[in-house]
Amino acid sequence: MIRTIAMLAAAAFLFTGTAVAQDTAPPLLRAIYQELVEIDTSDASGDTTRAAEAMAARLRAGGIPAADIQVLVPPGGPKKGNLVARLRGSGEKKPLLLLAHIDVVNAKREDWQRDPFKLIEEDGYFYARGAADDKAMAAALVTIMIELKQQNVRLNRDLILALTADEEIIPSPFSGIDYLIRNHRNLIEAEFALNEGGGGQLDKAGKPLYHGIQAGEKVFQTYRLEVTNAGGHSARPSKDNAIYHLAAGLARLAQYDFPFKLLPVTRAYFERAANFESGQTSADMQAILQNPPDAAALARLSDSPRFNALMRTTCVATMLDAGHATNALPQRARAVVNCRVLPGEAVDEVQKTLARVFANDRISITPDGAAVLSPPPPLTQEIMGPVNEISASLWPGVPVIPTLSAGATDGRFLANIGIPTYGITGQFRDADGGGVHGLNERIRVKSFYDGHRFLDRLVRALAR
Ligand SMILES: [Zn+2]
Repeated sequence: MIRTIAMLAAAAFLFTGTAVAQDTAPPLLRAIYQELVEIDTSDASGDTTRAAEAMAARLRAGGIPAADIQVLVPPGGPKKGNLVARLRGSGEKKPLLLLAHIDVVNAKREDWQRDPFKLIEEDGYFYARGAADDKAMAAALVTIMIELKQQNVRLNRDLILALTADEEIIPSPFSGIDYLIRNHRNLIEAEFALNEGGGGQLDKAGKPLYHGIQAGEKVFQTYRLEVTNAGGHSARPSKDNAIYHLAAGLARLAQYDFPFKLLPVTRAYFERAANFESGQTSADMQAILQNPPDAAALARLSDSPRFNALMRTTCVATMLDAGHATNALPQRARAVVNCRVLPGEAVDEVQKTLARVFANDRISITPDGAAVLSPPPPLTQEIMGPVNEISASLWPGVPVIPTLSAGATDGRFLANIGIPTYGITGQFRDADGGGVHGLNERIRVKSFYDGHRFLDRLVRALAR
């Protein structure tokens, strides 16, 4: 009976929510966020082990048994530590993994307006390196673990928190998630995972446009191209020139578009985005959903790098290097082409397509490392039901939209080993991107607190 009342109260809390969220945070959340942001975890001058230790201390102080909290430091990387902690549930369901990276992109103090490793609250924003990416989510997750423990919430599954190093460096020998998968897989084995990568978009006036749920990432694969030649004196050139061979191949690539293809996640994205985009863009989004897609609409949308990346695999030249003297014929010409492959497409086929487009077997094509294949997670009712309900209670009228990420996060490693991973943060970002990876990174104070509120409710809903 008591339990029934508690459950009803919890359900009321969960689903009525507060339509208007406040700008005040639980003091614990604020303190954890500040501590995490003020520990420099950049590759150039920082230390993720310190941050992992600090969060381990917070979790122990919050009542989680020390035996369930581990700081895992890879051999040879004393400043590349990770944290894994477990909050135990009944075991009725397989665990839920809560993932956030604690490393940050380097920040040069002299280029910033404020100290990047000090949490500064100013004009409704938090400023700091990592204020958004990804320490806002990391702090929210640590706080949620502690609050669930302190409130003695009954969970039907274990919650696993993983805070990782070197998400921002591709590739890195100290990628925390890769290290955990290879060496401590039993600690992070889960039915599915929540990670960064999603998030809401604000318009220029700060009004929420949509709430994005990242349901998949494109696959990252780089190729090295090379043409060699006997060379000789540049006073007696021939048409057989390494630079010309390579340049002509790259010029053909510039003209080439990989085939248009919609996945379930991108189809859903364009269907819903058509509702808040306006004018020609909205009409074009509807027109490409037809079978066959309208060619003119497709061409117009393809002009937008953002939309184009959602509709097809892309390969682009990113580096070029050739020749050895101003007065010699080039003996070698090299280029790098970086591809972002739609999930589900065979990476080997991409290399074959490149060879076909270059149409010159003098251009050798060598993959740079093996792609980490990552199938998109299914948009199940178990996930999307609570996401939609909680989102609607916090941000009434703001659509929830599944997105495919053209970039890469730690999520691809988990998807690769069969742990479906969703990018769900509940944090809304400014129209200009909020300085993430750049200067003066910031997040709205309200977005930070609302994001925690959203994740807190979502984790509760998914674990009982
Ligand atoms: Zn990140």
